[in-house]
Amino acid sequence: QWGQLKQKLRTSVGTHNYKNWIEPLELSGVTDGVATFSVPTSFLGNYVSQNFGDLILYQMNTLAPDIRRIHFQVAANTPARPATAFKLTPQTSFAQPAEGQIPTAPLDDRFTFDSFVVGKPNELAHAAAKRVAEGGPVTFNPLFLYGGVGLGKTHLMHAIAWELQTKRPELNVVYLSAEQFMYRFVQALRDRRMMDFKEMFRSVDVLMVDDVQFIAGKDSTQEEFFHTFNALVDQNKQIVISADRAPGEIANLEERIKSRLQCGLVVDLHPTDYELRLGILQSKVDQYRLQYPDLQMDSGVLEFLAHRISTNVRVLEGALTRLYAFASLVGHQITLELTQDCLADVLRASERKISIEEIQRKVSEHYNIRLSDMIGPKRVRSFARPRQVAMYLCKQMTSRSLPEIGRRFGGRDHTTVMHGVRRIEELRTQDGQIAEDLELLRRTLES
Ligand code: ADP
Ligand code: MG
Repeated sequence: QWGQLKQKLRTSVGTHNYKNWIEPLELSGVTDGVATFSVPTSFLGNYVSQNFGDLILYQMNTLAPDIRRIHFQVAANTPARPATAFKLTPQTSFAQPAEGQIPTAPLDDRFTFDSFVVGKPNELAHAAAKRVAEGGPVTFNPLFLYGGVGLGKTHLMHAIAWELQTKRPELNVVYLSAEQFMYRFVQALRDRRMMDFKEMFRSVDVLMVDDVQFIAGKDSTQEEFFHTFNALVDQNKQIVISADRAPGEIANLEERIKSRLQCGLVVDLHPTDYELRLGILQSKVDQYRLQYPDLQMDSGVLEFLAHRISTNVRVLEGALTRLYAFASLVGHQITLELTQDCLADVLRASERKISIEEIQRKVSEHYNIRLSDMIGPKRVRSFARPRQVAMYLCKQMTSRSLPEIGRRFGGRDHTTVMHGVRRIEELRTQDGQIAEDLELLRRTLES
């Protein structure tokens, strides 16, 4: 039955996606309404879950309505791989890499500069990535890209790798996630191949490490990362790093690493705005038109989605994928009504975006102080404490960065915000009243 479903999925996702992402999935069992798939790597599992999870579940439900959830498990018997000099090759399948290559995260061939839509929120990051992709002399090192989930960090890094591959094919370009870096490191330790490991990473010309926040709190991995990083910078080799927040804001990351990361160019991918979302949707629709030439879409649908769906591009794309898959299954033109029906859950989820203003208002109401006093400069306890509570909630309940929160609290410095957040974290465990206030506020904000 899974075989049958796979074929259906093939039509919904297209042959290319199918080959990369769906084909490697093995259904290993169904228990208590949870279908478990075995996958060769956690990267693949995460990717499939984020991009095709809904669709797979939807398709499975047509045959087995009692399945509520799908789950991905990394197959236990992934064989150890030889660690030797490495040359980047586009991996469009998940076959074992040839002898003498480090397996790198596969590059998604949809993640190119051509398919990256540039708008105000990402133009700096895009320009910096372009510069690195020229493969010229190193001007800033590292390039540190940061921003919330789904704003295009991985896309830009893959784009750099693809472009370098055509412009400077002789360069040894390595792209991997911080998780994979750790995995290789631990494996090298275990197999007593640290010399190989060091040599391998030090022979790289361009190293890109994605989601570096992952190594926070992992001391020996940080240590090794630091050495690798320094060795490459000393040799004037380009490094590109991404993270979900600014270097200074990654907790449990060694100070010396933070300051090293800040040495180059740090650029922020801002949350998308309406224009960028619309632009992205339009470019995706152009691709879908080729795939589903018979499906018509009413005007206004894209504008509706760009307005209503959160700042995360991945969610936006997922919504569109689902919409097309759904419309093609029911053989119906994409109307606003169908959109609202098919995406009811996504729309509902993005409706409840809590804003900084809302938090400030609710907290000042709760403590019975004026909003202007909450944001203003006065430091007396009766204003300072509510202010810290509000900062804490902003950090917890929104995806805003510390500097941004600081700006919205009368232009305070991010360290002030961090201090406030820490203070409340402490008090929460010591002071029953604060804990109660927080709980109450959170509930009113979430309702
Ligand atoms: P991140 O790594 O920041 O979490 P990704 O790079 O994985 O985000 O992007 C999530 C999805 O959104 C990807 O499918 C990517 O192609 C798409 N995406 C993000 N930003 C853009 C953009 N500016 N133009 C086109 N697609 C984008
Ligand atoms: Mg990413």
